[in-house]
Amino acid sequence: MSRIHYTKPSVGELEARYVLDAVQNGWGERCYEYITRFEKNFAQHMGVPYAIATSSCTGALHMGMAALGIGAGDEVILADTNWIASAAPITYLGATPVFVDVLPDSWCLDPEQVRRAITPRTKAILAVHLYGNLCDMDALLAIGREFGLPVIEDAAEAVGSQWRGQAAGSLGAFGAFSFHGTKTMTTGEGGMFVTSDKALYDRVLTLSNHGRVAGSSKQFWPDFLGFKYKMSNLQAAVGVAQVERIGELIDRKRAIFKHYAEALEALPGLSMNPEPVHARNGYWMPTVVFDRELGITRDLLIAAFQAADIDARVFFWPLSSLPMFSDMVPESPVAHSLPERAINLPSYHDMTDDDQRRVIEVLRTLVLKGTRP
Ligand SMILES: *Cc1c(COP(=O)(O)O)cnc(C)c1O
Repeated sequence: MSRIHYTKPSVGELEARYVLDAVQNGWGERCYEYITRFEKNFAQHMGVPYAIATSSCTGALHMGMAALGIGAGDEVILADTNWIASAAPITYLGATPVFVDVLPDSWCLDPEQVRRAITPRTKAILAVHLYGNLCDMDALLAIGREFGLPVIEDAAEAVGSQWRGQAAGSLGAFGAFSFHGTKTMTTGEGGMFVTSDKALYDRVLTLSNHGRVAGSSKQFWPDFLGFKYKMSNLQAAVGVAQVERIGELIDRKRAIFKHYAEALEALPGLSMNPEPVHARNGYWMPTVVFDRELGITRDLLIAAFQAADIDARVFFWPLSSLPMFSDMVPESPVAHSLPERAINLPSYHDMTDDDQRRVIEVLRTLVLKGTRP
């Protein structure tokens, strides 16, 4: 029996063909061809007019927030349950991330907590679609309108997720995606900034070019300090292939989740990634949360999966529990309770039914045998 990894990208012939072409021909005046194609095709898939390929989602968030004018003394509200990449760019700009609690079913931002956290310093709301689950965009966009605050979407984990038929990442002021090797589609490392706001797009485009305005006649002339978060043409070649295969990549994620969900349905006290009727979940990361009464803890889960030679990932630690944010007083009981009794399950394109059976067996044994001696 071989080790089951929690995630692996699906990269094949098509990607190899495009990369080879990019390596052999994509230089000189053709050095942006795949980048332009990738941006255009990705934007089309997401249903937005503008996209800028970046070296990471972190970079896309950093530039987008800078373009919104977020800076020293400002506050950005986001969920306490998150990967640090969502919060770090806020701090790069000298602003303060304000962590609020999550909803117990979606594990995403609780709109009522957002409302309560708004102060005169609040500059934006950052909606992160965790593990493919959708934030309540109706409520968040309504709060944004009421208080005149942009809602930013970190859709790094939400390729394939939709809210009322619209792609996650296309609903707010801007969306940011990640193509890190663990994500549903990959370019190795990489990201994308998307928006429907032409003025914001123009600002980020200039920022992304070290502050040089597109079409300026003056060479090597930055008008202000910008950034360098560009994607290479070689990575974009992989991205073009991945966008051509995106339907297949998403379908597989959904099929893997469905298989888990059906097999685990009969077990008591488990909940998994929700899919409300008006949403579609891209199911980047199938996740199980155990009712407290079961007594199944993170440590028990890690030990059981390790014994079965399966990679399982712990649920995100609350950001307010991390050393760099230790001065904040956490008021997020849900965010603090979830990781104590939850686990991410392996999910990757080429996973076999047998692999899934092994994962399911570990969970079934834990739940049915119980944890008490
Ligand atoms: C992966 C991830 C990021 C970071 O993406 P990079 O491309 O590694 O910068 C940001 N936000 C979320 C929610 C992620 O899952």
